[in-house]
Amino acid sequence: MEFVANLHDHRWDVIVVGGGHNGLVAASYLSRAGKRVLLLEAASELGGATASVRAFPEFDARLSRYSYLVSLLPDQIVQDLGINFTTLGREVSSYTPYEVDGRHDGLSVSSDWDTQTAESFLRLTGSDAEAKAWQRFYGEIAEFAQKFAPSMLQPLKTRSQIRRDMDMDDVWDYMIEKPIGQIIESRFTNDLVRGVVLTDALIGTFVDSHQMQANICFLYHLIGNGTGQWRVPKGGMGALVRELERIAISHGTTIQLNSAVTSIEPDHDGVHVKTTDGQSYECTDLLFAAAPQILDQIQGKKSRPSLQGSQIKINMLLTKLPRLKSGIDPRIAFAGTFHINESYSHLNASYEKAKAGQMPNRLPLEMYCHTLTDSSILSQELIDKGFQTLTLFGLHTDASLFDKDPSGALDAAVTSALASLNEYLEDPIESVLAKNSDGSYAIEAKSPLDLEAAISLPRGNIFHRDLDFPFIEDGAASDTPQWGGETDHPHIFIAGAGARRGGGVSGIAGHNAAMSVLLR
Ligand SMILES: Cc1cc2nc3c(=O)[nH]c(=O)nc-3n(C[C@H](O)[C@H](O)[C@H](O)COP(=O)(O)OP(=O)(O)OC[C@H]3O[C@@H](n4cnc5c(N)ncnc54)[C@H](O)[C@@H]3O)c2cc1C
Repeated sequence: MEFVANLHDHRWDVIVVGGGHNGLVAASYLSRAGKRVLLLEAASELGGATASVRAFPEFDARLSRYSYLVSLLPDQIVQDLGINFTTLGREVSSYTPYEVDGRHDGLSVSSDWDTQTAESFLRLTGSDAEAKAWQRFYGEIAEFAQKFAPSMLQPLKTRSQIRRDMDMDDVWDYMIEKPIGQIIESRFTNDLVRGVVLTDALIGTFVDSHQMQANICFLYHLIGNGTGQWRVPKGGMGALVRELERIAISHGTTIQLNSAVTSIEPDHDGVHVKTTDGQSYECTDLLFAAAPQILDQIQGKKSRPSLQGSQIKINMLLTKLPRLKSGIDPRIAFAGTFHINESYSHLNASYEKAKAGQMPNRLPLEMYCHTLTDSSILSQELIDKGFQTLTLFGLHTDASLFDKDPSGALDAAVTSALASLNEYLEDPIESVLAKNSDGSYAIEAKSPLDLEAAISLPRGNIFHRDLDFPFIEDGAASDTPQWGGETDHPHIFIAGAGARRGGGVSGIAGHNAAMSVLLR
């Protein structure tokens, strides 16, 4: 009782709304700097899209239910806050199985270029031209990423400033100014190679290769921490959340779960907040670390238009890895990103089909096996038995496709995804899926609508709303430094994925919103 009374006794310096990883990062920076911080989370658990769960209660396997790989989290945030969280590299970048004239093979790309990768390109394309184009393209992007990444934790620069600082006009031109499809089409000729490149522009983004939103998604997927490497979170995403919770609390943040904010009213005196359970709080600054559309809704404002979520996420527990028709060791094939139905022409055709209101025929999807890199999410018993996990992310399944018949449409999407996977497997996936005691498979699937219901992602958009380029337009420059979370009220900031430079598991939006308050 006393604890609850204290919550209302004093005015908070900052209230953070939303206990996803960004809210926790913001709260940690602010409380570490001496601010009195209250974090209000609607759900009964912290983490939002970075939760790990025991999805199949009979098995001690703690899967990253939603997000699963880390690239964008800057080392600086990890060091500043002393986050005891490790990410592990993957030796294999990607494997894309294909069939030509009844022969099964795969495009295998190692994380560091090697002869196996070169030979794999040669077998697919018949020359070394595509391999050279690949190395040149990703070499340029690696340099671009290294130069761009540090700006993410600084006040926003304008388009012209950052372009000048980068001093890489050619790359700037194809990454920022022209649709990403143009450079892919001009540098690469093979449909499958083009598709593998394009996928980074489409994760969580319902567009075709010639819409600029694809460029922004591509940029975010390739500049992470200056390397663009997608790494495996040791212990799963939940490990990051547990660490952030520990740090926030150690600096004095008070966390209230089951406290959905329903009213936010700023006046000359501060910001007044109410929650579903009828509690009222007061603060000087409010950091909104849930989707901006929810803030708009709470304040009775109209949100800017945004794309809907367009992915299904499937988590599976396997008794062992399935063998592949191509004969490759599954421990190699599934260690990196495993692409299916992601040729360039098929990705664009699938987009058109979904846009016309129909589920794509052969669902473009990608998968990876977490436990090949990090078995610590499994109990020793499951490790000893050889169990593995598979994480599947299906593209171009726009939220609208699920409106009429949510469970029927999801079942159809899952059936289509597994059938596509089986085309390349010697052992059908069903033969290696773990089974619960009632005979059902250990598999769970989430549509965009499920994401909205469970973790409040508007229409299932994994980035809350459309990503913005990580700079401001020249005309929007002002004398006061801008961090990307500004709203039309000087004491209310967006601190989650929907901020400029938010999106993905990065903590950048949380860091930047905290800086808006601390460095004002
Ligand atoms: C299926 C899926 C796969 C993904 N894969 C990856 C990946 O592999 N790598 C990657 O980098 N990114 C990935 N992402 C994107 C990434 O997870 C998110 O962009 C990021 O985690 C968002 O973090 P956040 O803290 O800003 O917001 P969220 O995690 O969305 O947290 C917001 C929190 O606010 C709470 N909340 C909402 N409304 C209220 C309210 N009214 N009052 C109080 N609290 C409220 C919610 O309950 C939630 O806990 C994925 C996302 C999804 C859904």
